[in-house]
Amino acid sequence: MNAILEPQPRRRRIYLDANATTPVLPEVLAAMQPFWMERFGNPSSAHAGGQTTRAAVEHARASVASLLGCSAREVVFTSGGTEGDNAALIGVLQPYLDRREPAHLITTAIEHHAVLYAAEAFERRGGQVTYLQPNGDGVVSPNDLERSIKPETKLLSVMFANNETGAIQPLDELARLAKARGILVHTDAVQTAAKLPIDLAGELRNVDLLTISGHKMYAPQGTGALFVRKGVELAPLLYGGPQERQRRAGTENVPGIVGLGCAAEAARQWFAGDGPAALRKLRDRLETELLGSIQGSTVNAAGIPRMDNTCNLNIEGIDAERLLIALDLQGVSASFGAACQSGATETSHVLLAMGLTATEARGCLRLSLSRLTTADEIDAALEIIPAAVARLRSLGANAKAAPKDGLALQS
Ligand code: PLP
Repeated sequence: MNAILEPQPRRRRIYLDANATTPVLPEVLAAMQPFWMERFGNPSSAHAGGQTTRAAVEHARASVASLLGCSAREVVFTSGGTEGDNAALIGVLQPYLDRREPAHLITTAIEHHAVLYAAEAFERRGGQVTYLQPNGDGVVSPNDLERSIKPETKLLSVMFANNETGAIQPLDELARLAKARGILVHTDAVQTAAKLPIDLAGELRNVDLLTISGHKMYAPQGTGALFVRKGVELAPLLYGGPQERQRRAGTENVPGIVGLGCAAEAARQWFAGDGPAALRKLRDRLETELLGSIQGSTVNAAGIPRMDNTCNLNIEGIDAERLLIALDLQGVSASFGAACQSGATETSHVLLAMGLTATEARGCLRLSLSRLTTADEIDAALEIIPAAVARLRSLGANAKAAPKDGLALQS
């Protein structure tokens, strides 16, 4: 067996990187299990095996729709956040390029690369793009949006909450402004779904397209969904079969979709209990105690509405890449204000857009808690992180980071 597939020795790790990915919940795994070997029919097949998996896919669709406050017919299953974002942007904008009509997209400088690089591709093909700049807390302003609207603006794409800082955008206000001018609205809710309630029939009724990703909400990697409001026309990203009401060709990933549906149901139960408050309490304790024990540390986006699970700590005089390696060796998984691109680390475009210097951005550590994070793990992290910072400081801040592959990907 390939060494990577062999069972790894179990070592207790403190996982504080839930914005990168989350583990699959036990109930999600159990729900998926029959769909690998027993119920494996193609949902497009007319026989009983196909009908069984079709019913499972439709059940999952209804569960995702309940989580988002929309109709099941408005849920299109995808392979994840990147596909959902690309399908929304390219699906809305490509037809204008094809017809050689002027088209303008408004997005923000702090989007995930799934949106930013799709916007850049649109620009290279002749489209116009405005990137709204955030303030120092990482929030874009409705006034800036108003000023950027042109007669040919066709789409606004603004993320709901940022993956690095957790900063929540004033989405309902931005969407209302855009809708009043006849502009379609897309939001990347990859970091928000199953962490904050989403109501596409209420507060977010002006949002036309919304992306979610399974692996940020305790479902498997490579699963996701795009909400497409009734009446919104999208050019397809993929050509092939008529699946997903002609909106996404390709045989459905049935086990993954079942897992996503189950994760959506688990999220609704988590909201109904004291899940969000308990998570916030843990994050707040981690944050307050780290601020107290690490001199020269501050929290990015501290003063604004922020995701309950995220703490982006700016630590003076520290190279967060070195800190991350030190923490990794001690069993703590976290992330830092840079992304590995083609083997080289690139400073976070989000933190730079918020006005941090490159040195400050490289001193930022992202800690993101999951629903499974325990108080004991926070206690342990509160011992390990300040000690690691103190040790690095005693060694001198400018020592070079040890090379280590695949440290942190933009997530
Ligand atoms: N959008 C945001 C805000 C993300 O954080 C991520 C993943 O990190 C993505 C999009 C891409 O999602 P996926 O990994 O499912 O392709």
